[in-house]
Amino acid sequence: MNVLVFSHYFELAKELISAGSRVGDVSLLLSSDQRDREGEVKGARRVIICDVSSDDQSGLLNAIISLAKDYDLLIFSSDKRGRELIGQVAQKLERAVATEVSSLSLSNGKLIIERMTYGGKAISVEELSLPAAISIQKGKFKPLDADSTHETLHCKFEAARSYEVVERRPKPKLGIPLDKADVVVAAGRGFKRKEDLKLAQELAELFNGVVGSTRPLAADLKWVPEESWIGISGVRIAPKLLFVVGASGQQQFSAGIIDSKVIVAINNDPGAPIFENSDYGIVKDLYEFLPALIKRLRELR
Ligand SMILES: Cc1cc2nc3c(=O)[nH]c(=O)nc-3n(C[C@H](O)[C@H](O)[C@H](O)COP(=O)(O)OP(=O)(O)OC[C@H]3O[C@@H](n4cnc5c(N)ncnc54)[C@H](O)[C@@H]3O)c2cc1C
Repeated sequence: MNVLVFSHYFELAKELISAGSRVGDVSLLLSSDQRDREGEVKGARRVIICDVSSDDQSGLLNAIISLAKDYDLLIFSSDKRGRELIGQVAQKLERAVATEVSSLSLSNGKLIIERMTYGGKAISVEELSLPAAISIQKGKFKPLDADSTHETLHCKFEAARSYEVVERRPKPKLGIPLDKADVVVAAGRGFKRKEDLKLAQELAELFNGVVGSTRPLAADLKWVPEESWIGISGVRIAPKLLFVVGASGQQQFSAGIIDSKVIVAINNDPGAPIFENSDYGIVKDLYEFLPALIKRLRELR
């Protein structure tokens, strides 16, 4: 079976090669800005370098659609841009599609996949007829490490851009990425004002940790950058210690924290669903509890 993989992020492309190689021969599509990384590719039979940049979504769409006829399976990463691309590709090619895939295998010419469903409450096992397009959940496949050789092809595509890039500004970095942090303080709508988040920040700093949030704080209130938002439609985290402060623990949030080792929830509502998923539950007003906790931790240092 022929598999074509692409991610806007080279590090994720390595995971996609690992996933694709479970079911077939993998070709990796590299955008023009990723071509310098070709020497790092392991496990792909073929590398196709196209003259389209990874910020040109419509150019990439054209490239993938032109190449797709030779491939039974297209694999993308389940990040924001990968999800956007897979939707367009599947619609244009009328292919079977599945997102957030965490495992895949072949059986009787069909692709068997597992993916999270019901907001993370269950894993569904699905059978897809080929050709198909899937996106892979981050962190589920370890990049391959064995030495391998590949052939290299170069492709030219008509520029499809209907806009011009006038300036590039890197997004401000948050420090340790949320999904790599050992300690995370996740803030929810229990915080009444943006300035109050300094309590979460102070607690995080005591553990060299980082502050994350529920979706409303990032997407609706815009109190924190988008990258801080934890959950099924945000970042999935797996810290050693997670404080969840003033968040109700709705399923869409909790799906993003289930791999955390120890969860401490602070909420003034004893019936909040977060307590079902936490190791330690503190029923207190965060405005009383956090200053006291921070004070005590400082005394103990
Ligand atoms: C398709 C879809 C995808 C979604 N994806 C995500 C996602 O990825 N991540 C996400 O977070 N959400 C997501 N949501 C939204 C999700 O359903 C919830 O609405 C959201 O998680 C609730 O955020 P919250 O816990 O901050 O707010 P609330 O649900 O309003 O909870 C606030 C909590 O704070 C407590 N509280 C209030 N005051 C205090 C105080 N003084 N001290 C202590 N506790 C206090 C309350 O008791 C309450 O439990 C999604 C929704 C949809 C429909």
